[in-house]
Amino acid sequence: DKETHYLSKFYQKSKSERIEALVKSGVLSEESAKAFTDDLQLSAEIADSMIENQLATYQLPFGVALNFLIDDEAYAVPMAIEEPSVVAAASSAAKLFAPYGGFKTATTTRTMIGQVILTDIPDCLQAIKVLEDAEATIIQAANDAHPSIVRRGGGADVISLNHIKEDIAAGTPEFLILHLYVKTLEAMGANIINTMMEAIIPLVEELSGGKALMGILSNYATECLATATCRIPSTALATNDWSGEEVRDRIVLASHAAVVDPYRAVTHNKGIMNGIDAVVIATGNDWRAISAGVHAYASRSGQYRSLTNWSKGENGDLVGELTIPLPIGAVGGSISFHPGAKIAHELLGNPSADTLESIIVSVGLAQNFSAIRALVTDGIQRGHMALHSRSLAISAGAQGDEIMIVSEKLNQSKNMNLATAKEILESFRQ
Ligand code: NDP
Repeated sequence: DKETHYLSKFYQKSKSERIEALVKSGVLSEESAKAFTDDLQLSAEIADSMIENQLATYQLPFGVALNFLIDDEAYAVPMAIEEPSVVAAASSAAKLFAPYGGFKTATTTRTMIGQVILTDIPDCLQAIKVLEDAEATIIQAANDAHPSIVRRGGGADVISLNHIKEDIAAGTPEFLILHLYVKTLEAMGANIINTMMEAIIPLVEELSGGKALMGILSNYATECLATATCRIPSTALATNDWSGEEVRDRIVLASHAAVVDPYRAVTHNKGIMNGIDAVVIATGNDWRAISAGVHAYASRSGQYRSLTNWSKGENGDLVGELTIPLPIGAVGGSISFHPGAKIAHELLGNPSADTLESIIVSVGLAQNFSAIRALVTDGIQRGHMALHSRSLAISAGAQGDEIMIVSEKLNQSKNMNLATAKEILESFRQ
């Protein structure tokens, strides 16, 4: 059992005390804790084998957001991110919601979609009929191309067809697009599906009489959705300047604004992705894939909109909800050999892909809450600039103890910028 009291006042501890607290609280093994002493370095050999023309490794700060209660389980959530405030904002939202049940989640069956895009089909309606009749043969051919996923209990199980008619005005030709639905189990499944899609191309071409343009996974993972919900009494939202009801109502208004105005929606969703990307990166997952799918999902109505919904519950509580496609993996890609990814999974108790989805979507909802609560009350700059002052101090050349001294002076100065940081540092060093 995790002993979360070791994690209290975490941010006030030194780095080594934080690592020790994670070990004491039972979320990190002694052995893994040692990996932090060399900053989770990726070995030169591994790095060289991961990409082409490799020169060095590029590092990001790796930390944990605390206080998360997700489906009645406590988590210290790993985050890899360069932006100040994100870890603090996630932790503070999680702390606020924890006494009220934290976050509850639901996930759909993890089904990924692959596509074969067909062109030059002599008779599309006829081709649709032939392909539909051959569904079992197509599925068999796909599964034969990756039998190990079938042995594990997954694999392809359904096809569907999308006929896109020629649009003379837009200058686009006719396409017939075959979708293959695949259960990739604990993997994100890009390589599994790409193998299957390329393997079925000859069969699908023969059956349709058309030509395949490509066969590949779709990152629009509409069959792999994760939802988080949370609720909190308005009394818990009061600040010195605002009543709880006012804060609740302003958060609900902010949510509406992000539904109707795409300029606001993009920034609103960027705030959600601050948390999601940080965990996706820390856990060794493909954040471009997640981002592409999430933003497409935000546009599913035809207009780009907020991904979260904040409303006033029947009893007056503030109620939040976030649903996104989350085709992440608990295995595959670099997860098994990247030292940061391995520790991130360990910190979370080596969760299944399904549980990892629940954790990530909850972090997104928490992150969004913190951002909009700050925006509709104090504004985000007060908290942000306090942390930003440390980055400015470092940019100005401050080292060691100088960083905190310069950053504290910057917090009190009227113009918090690089020039001021340099002036403070120079006068301090004289
Ligand atoms: P992998 O190619 O690493 O495949 C995952 C492997 O994990 C499977 O082949 C399987 O091995 C093994 N495995 C072990 N246990 C399980 C289990 N319980 N469930 C499922 N698989 C298991 O990874 P993915 O196919 O997930 O592809 C992800 C990678 O593809 C990412 O690195 C991504 O960046 C990249 N990619 C992304 C694209 C995109 O998003 N459009 C396109 C191309 C690549 P076994 O064979 O033994 O069953």
